[in-house]
Amino acid sequence: MAEKPLVFGCSCSRERVAAMLQSLGEAEARAAAQDGQTEIQCGFCGQRYVFPLAEIGVLFEQPSANAPTPDRLQ
Ligand SMILES: [Zn+2]
Repeated sequence: MAEKPLVFGCSCSRERVAAMLQSLGEAEARAAAQDGQTEIQCGFCGQRYVFPLAEIGVLFEQPSANAPTPDRLQ
């Protein structure tokens, strides 16, 4: 009989963990990194999510806002 992991009711996802990391701030996310990666374990289902530092960098890479910045030199 296959044992089913008890993930019922947990709606964690890599995206959610990424969002959580972003809410922590880049400094905290990087400070939590070990061996070049930050590992986050879901407190509910135990699922582990590994984010290499390169990915951390991407998370905090602010896409230069395309919002028009009118240069009003009057
Ligand atoms: Zn979970």
